[in-house]
Amino acid sequence: MLNLTRQMIEIRNILTRVDSQSDTLKLPSIVVVGSQSSGKSSVLEAIVGQEFLPKGNNMVTRRPIELTLVNAPESASETAEFPALNMYNMTDFQTVQKTLFDLNMAVPASECISNDPIQITIRSPRVPDLSLVDLPGYIQVEADDQPAELKQKIRTLCNRYLEAPNIILAISSADVDLANSSALRAAKMADPRGERTVGVITKMDLVDPKIARRILLNRKYPLRMGYVGVITKAPNPTSKSTGLFSRRQVSGFQSYVAQQNFEFNYFKDNKDEFSGTSTGTRILKKKLMKVLEKSMSASLRPTHMAIRQELEETSYQFKVEFNDRPLTPQMYLANNIDLIKVATKELSRNFSRNELRSLLKNELDQKVLNLLAERYWNRPFTGNINELSLPSLEPALTELSQLSAVPEDSYWHKKLDLTQSSLTKLGIGRLSTSLVTGAMLTEINNLVDGTQLTNHTLARQAVEDAAKSVLKSKYYFTADQVENCIKPYKYEVELEDREWAASKESAVNLLREEMRQCDLAQSQLKKEIGGRKLPQVMKYLEKLSSQNKGEVDANEALGFSKALLEKGQEALFLRDRMKLLKMRYQFIKSSKKCQSKDNKYQCPEIFLDAVATKLTSTAILFLNVELLSDFYYNFPRKLDDEFFKNMSPEQLESFAKEDPKIKKHIELQERKDLLEEALSKMEGVLAIQNQKSDSKSNS
Ligand code: GDP
Repeated sequence: MLNLTRQMIEIRNILTRVDSQSDTLKLPSIVVVGSQSSGKSSVLEAIVGQEFLPKGNNMVTRRPIELTLVNAPESASETAEFPALNMYNMTDFQTVQKTLFDLNMAVPASECISNDPIQITIRSPRVPDLSLVDLPGYIQVEADDQPAELKQKIRTLCNRYLEAPNIILAISSADVDLANSSALRAAKMADPRGERTVGVITKMDLVDPKIARRILLNRKYPLRMGYVGVITKAPNPTSKSTGLFSRRQVSGFQSYVAQQNFEFNYFKDNKDEFSGTSTGTRILKKKLMKVLEKSMSASLRPTHMAIRQELEETSYQFKVEFNDRPLTPQMYLANNIDLIKVATKELSRNFSRNELRSLLKNELDQKVLNLLAERYWNRPFTGNINELSLPSLEPALTELSQLSAVPEDSYWHKKLDLTQSSLTKLGIGRLSTSLVTGAMLTEINNLVDGTQLTNHTLARQAVEDAAKSVLKSKYYFTADQVENCIKPYKYEVELEDREWAASKESAVNLLREEMRQCDLAQSQLKKEIGGRKLPQVMKYLEKLSSQNKGEVDANEALGFSKALLEKGQEALFLRDRMKLLKMRYQFIKSSKKCQSKDNKYQCPEIFLDAVATKLTSTAILFLNVELLSDFYYNFPRKLDDEFFKNMSPEQLESFAKEDPKIKKHIELQERKDLLEEALSKMEGVLAIQNQKSDSKSNS
C-alpha cells in the first residue's frame, strides 16, 4: 500500500533543501506551540516514545527543531539521525538529547534564536509517519522583559511556521484557564477560523474529570478538528505504590510504558465522564496522522504545480547562465586536477636538464664570486681610518698585481686549495636539493595558476601540500646521494683542456658582469650624493687614511655628516674594486698564462668556475634521477589520493564553492537536481492517487 504521508514527507524534506523559505515550495508539517510547562516536550516525547528533548530553564530551544518521524515496523527500537551532521543510527537517546542541546547552545544567548532549523529523523516501529516542528522560545513572545526587537524576531520566525498549509498543534495545560493559554492565542491569530488547529489539553490527571470533560468539549474556543486530552507523564513511580520501577534507573522505554499504562487506566477508570471526547496519546497520534494526510493530499496538486514551475525557471536559468553544462564539486575538481596532471607531464618534458643546470650553476657562481671577493679581491682591514670604515682594497690590489709574477709561491697554492675546499664543502647536496625542490614548487604553483583553481585558496593549498609531501619524501635521500657523488671533488679536480677553455670564457663573462654591477653601484652613489660633493668626501677620507695625517684640515670635515662619510667610504671601496676587477678581467681575458690549465694558481677565477661546473653537472644528474623522475611519477597519484580518497564530499564541496561563480553553478545544478527528484516523486504519488480514484469510481 502506498503510504502517502511518508512519501510526501520525503518530498517535503527535499523541498526544504531546495528552499526552506519559499512561499510556494512547501508541504504541510505539524507545528507544535505551547508555553513553558504546558507539557509540550512531554507530548512530543510521548508521541516518539523516548525522552530526547533538551531540558532546562535557560531557553534551551533556540532553533526550530524539524522532527521527521518514520514508521519502521521492521526495526526493533528507536533510532535517531542528524543528516546534516552525518550522524546516523543513534540508539542512545541521551546522546541525541545532548546533541540537540549543543546545537541549540551554538546560538549565542545574545542572539536568542536562529532561523536555521535543526533537522532530526527518528525511526521506530511505534511512531506514525509524521513531520513535526518544535518552535523555539515560544514563551519569550509573552515575556515582558524581552527587548522589543527580540520579540519581533521570535514572532516573525514563529509566524512563518504557523502559516498555512501547516497544522498547528496548540498545547495547553488542563490546570490553567484556557483563556490564558498563549498557544491558543497564537493559533487564533494565525488560524482565526480554527480550521488547521488541533487543541491538546495536557495534565488531564490534575483536574477533576468533570471539569476536564468541560474543557474538551468547550464551545468558547471551537476548533474544527477539536481537542484531545492526554496524560503524558505518569506520576513519579517512586512515590506511588506501583513499585514497579522504584529505586531503579527508569529507562526511556520503561517510563514510556508506565505513562501509556497510567493514561490508559485513567481514562478507562473515568470512562463515563469522558464519553464523547477524544482522549489518550494513541488517539492523538492517529488524529495527527489523519490530519496530516488530509492536508498533504490537499497540497498535492498546488505543490506539484509549484515544483514544475520552479523547475522550469531553474532549468531556463541553468541553460542561459551555464549553457546546460552539468557541474558537481567532484566533476569540477577532477577536471582541474586532470589539467594539472597533464601540465605536470608537459613540465617533465619542458623543464629540461639545461634549465636545471643553469639554475644551480647561477647559484654556485654567486658562491664563487663571494669566495673570490673574500679570499682574493679583498683583504682584512688593517688600517685605522676611523670606526666607520669599509676595508680598503689597496693591499689586495698590490698583492694581486704580483700574482701573475710569482705563481710558484706556496702562499697562492694554499689559498686556492682552501678556496676550492670551501666551495666543495659548502653542502652542495642540501643546497642543490633545496634549490630544485623550491623551483619545482614554483613551477607547480604556476601550473595551478593556469587552471581555475587559481581562485581557490584551499584547493591550491592542497595541491601544494601534495607536491611538498612527494618532494619531501625524497629530500634527505637525494641530498645525501648528491653529497656522496661530489665527494671526489673535495680532494682533486681533474680538468680537460676543453673544460678549461669553457670556464675561461665563463670567468670572463662573470667578471664583466661584476664590473657592470660595480659600475651601476657607483653611478647610483653619485646620483645620491651629487657629482661634486662625492669626490670632496672621497678626497678627505683618503687624506685621512694616508700616513700624513698632518695635511688634514680639521675644518674640512665639518660639512660632512656621518652618513655622508659612510657613503664616501663606499665610493672609495667601489672605486678600488673596479680597478681590481678591471685588472683581473684584463689578465684572465688576455694573458697567455690563462690559456693553460697548468696555471690554475694564477687563474683562480677560471679554476673555481670549472669546479662549480663539475659540481653542477654531477648534482643535476642525481637530482634528475632521484628527485624529479620520482616526483613526476608520484605527484599525479598523490593528487588523486588527496582529492578523491582522503577528502570527504563536504570538503570537496567547500573547496569547489570557494569561487563564487562556481558556487553559483554548482548550487543551481543542485537545485535543479533536487527539483527533478521532487517532481518525479510527486508524479509517482499523483499517479497512484489517480489509480485509486479511478478504481473507486469504477466499483
Ligand atoms: P514544557 O515546558 O511545555 O515542555 O513542559 P514539560 O513537558 O517539560 O512539562 C512540564 C511539567 O509538567 C513537568 O514537570 C512534567 O512532569 C509535568 N507534566 C507534563 N505532562 C503531565 C501530565 O500529563 N500529567 C502530570 N501530572 N504532569 C505532567
